[in-house]
Parts: sequence; C-alpha cells; structure tokens
Amino acid sequence: MIVIENAHIAPVVGPEISNGHVAIEGNRIVSVGAGPFQGDAQRIDGRGCLVTPGLVNTHHHLYQWASQGLAPDGTLFEWLVASYPVWARMDAEVVHGAATAGLAWLALSGCSTSTDHHYVFPKGRGDLFAAEIQAAAEVGLRFHPCRGSMDRGRSQGGLPPDEVVETLDEILTETEAAVRRYHDPSFDSMLRVAVAPCSPFSVSGDLMRQAAGLARDLNVRLHTHGAETLDEDDHCKEQFGMLPVEYLESLGWLGPDVWIAHSVHLTDADITRFAETGTGTAHCPSSNGRLGAGIARVSELLRAGATVGLGVDGPGSAEFIPLAGEIRQALLMQRARYGPQALTARQSLEMATLGGARCLGRENEIGSLEPGKLADIAMWRIDGPYAAADDPVVALSHGQTPPLARLIVNGVTVVENGDLRTVSGDAAGAAGARAHARLLRS
Ligand SMILES: [Zn+2]
Repeated sequence: MIVIENAHIAPVVGPEISNGHVAIEGNRIVSVGAGPFQGDAQRIDGRGCLVTPGLVNTHHHLYQWASQGLAPDGTLFEWLVASYPVWARMDAEVVHGAATAGLAWLALSGCSTSTDHHYVFPKGRGDLFAAEIQAAAEVGLRFHPCRGSMDRGRSQGGLPPDEVVETLDEILTETEAAVRRYHDPSFDSMLRVAVAPCSPFSVSGDLMRQAAGLARDLNVRLHTHGAETLDEDDHCKEQFGMLPVEYLESLGWLGPDVWIAHSVHLTDADITRFAETGTGTAHCPSSNGRLGAGIARVSELLRAGATVGLGVDGPGSAEFIPLAGEIRQALLMQRARYGPQALTARQSLEMATLGGARCLGRENEIGSLEPGKLADIAMWRIDGPYAAADDPVVALSHGQTPPLARLIVNGVTVVENGDLRTVSGDAAGAAGARAHARLLRS
C-alpha cells in the first residue's frame, strides 16, 4: 500500500479535497479522501503539492523527434512536403531512439498514457512498430500505438511521394497482424493498438472504408487526422466534392470508437455530428499554432457535449512540447478566440485527463482519481514560486508548468522529483539526439 497525503487532490470527477490523500494498492486506487489515510502504508508527503490524474496524450508522432525544426515557417502541406523525403530514410533504430526521448519527455511532463500515430513504413528498415513499443515498455508509460498508413501517393493525387506509401493489401495485412500481436484489451492493459490511416490527402477512400471494417471486426479503435487546415478543405472539395468531416462520415468514420486529430475547421453541423455520434477530438493547440492552422472550436465542442482530449502532436510540427504545457496553450487559444470565459482551468485539466481517456475508450480505467481505477497519478509542486496562486489548479494551468514531484503509472513510480526512475533522462535525450543525427546522415 502506498499513500500520498497532505496534498490538494483534484480528482477531476467529484469534489476537490484541500488536504487529502490518495491510497493505492498494487496498480489500483483504493481510497481518495480527506485527511490522512488510516492504516499501514508507505507514505509520501504531499505537502505543497497538487495531485491530479496522470495526463493522457491523445495524438503524437514519436518518430518526428528525429526531424525537428524542418520548414519552421511552413504551412502543413509545405512542412509535410519537406519532411516526407527525410522520413523515408528512417529505420527501427531511429524510431527506438526518437520514441525513447519522446516518451521520456512526456513522462517528465506528467503524462502517464500516450498514444502514437506511426504512418511511415519504408521497406526493409526493420520493425518500426515493435521499436516504439519496446521504447514505451522501457520508459514505463501506458501506450496506445496506432498502426498508421498511407496508400495514396502523388501519382494517385495524394500529397506524399510514392516511395513512402504502401499498398492497400500490405496495409490491411500488417495492421491486422499488429493488432493480433500486441493489442491487450484487459482492464489494466499497458498496450492497446488502434487502426489509423493517416489523412484524407494521403489515403484512399477504399483504405478508409476497409480499415474501419477491420477495426470494428477486431474491436479496436480508429484514429486519423481531419479538418486540420483550409488547404485540406480545398483538397477535399476538389477531389471528393465535400468537406473533410462530410467525407469522413461518408466512409463510416464518425462514431464512438473514433477520435480525430485536430478538428480545427468544423462547421456548426460538424460540431453537432461529433456530439451526436460520440466522435472524439485530439486537440493539439501548439501544433495548430506552429503551422498557422487555426484555432479549433473546442469550447463549442465541449458545450455541445462532444469528447475532447489534448495532444502534443509530433515534435516535427510542435517541437519538444510538454503535455502539461498544452493545458495552458489550450486555455490561452480558446480565450484568444472566444474571451476569458471560454475555457476554465478545470475544463482544460479535464481535457488533459478524462477527456483523453474517453478518446481512447478508457474512461472507466484512467483519467480520474477514483477508487477502483488504475493508479496513474501526477503530483505537482505548487509551493515556492507557485504558491502565490491560491487556487492550485490555476497554478497548474495558467502559468509556467510547476515541477513534477512524482508520476505513478500503473502503481509504479516513473518520475520522482523531476527525474526518471525507469530509464536515465540523460540517456533518453542522447538516444533522441543520436536518432536525429542518424536520420539526417543516412
Ligand atoms: Zn499529427
């Protein structure tokens, strides 16, 4: 039994407790309450700390750690066109190094569960999907890798060069194999796989339809990019005669088992359809800002009752972004668009935790601090310079992210006083730098 006590507890579901405890037994939370915990336990003094659920990252491309800084002033399409030929050279070693650095950085920013969307599989370069799964096990995060894909190269009217796309048959075979090999549906699963064709401008309608059928046969979730930029709107109107969300719906891609990265350019009707169908959004405000994509209508989605989680997106389009910082970035961008009531500190924290868990279909297991849920817990230092904000959740959301005192994932301490306990933070950073050098040199 491990107990964190004397802390401000923000469970996300239920009232906050200004001087409370969270007790865990094995990998489960057994008690959340006021005052100290009665009984024998290993005690962690949470004085001066805010305790929240571990954060959930709903969108990422870990391999992009190795290609940061390309086309720093480009639009999405300009940045992609500059990046594809570089990505075509990656191998399993690059992916493992980049994923180790990226996941370590996520852990250090309070993230206990991360997804990843890997969609570039150049031939003869090793098992890239296995490489990132190995990195996640080493860093110790709960991991939801999405087997991504592209089958519509330039010769078919798509954006990527033909040498980085796969055939539809290869994709369906490899995606099914990845699910059968790695997906663990159990309650305390550390590894679940989703099916994830990349985007309307790099994937055929046939692949989208068949991927949806495959995922539903295998009972796994669906993820893709959608409605990210106005260029994408133009592409979809030109090629398919409709806007991105209408196109996704025509392919069977709205539903409670789907979460879509970005969803920036939504019509009023799209917002209603997202809410009605239970379709989730992975909101990535820093990436949207970096690429000048626009500001997503997140506060309107939330008001409509739609599911929204936060994501850092790949470090190629949002260099080296900590997940906790996206709580603040989301808040600022919504307020810049809609005014200061648009999003509260607690709504932003909820997106980063329970909203993300809902996107991944894990709201019964993670995303809030409740007895019976898995022990994924972040503890933030809100004393020292952070103590001047009387509201601990405002201290977390409004200013610079407070130091991470502890991150517990599945009952295991992964970060303690800002240091990783599973892998060395220095070694993880060096692995990322080596991956970068190898990708650029190869
Ligand atoms: Zn993305």
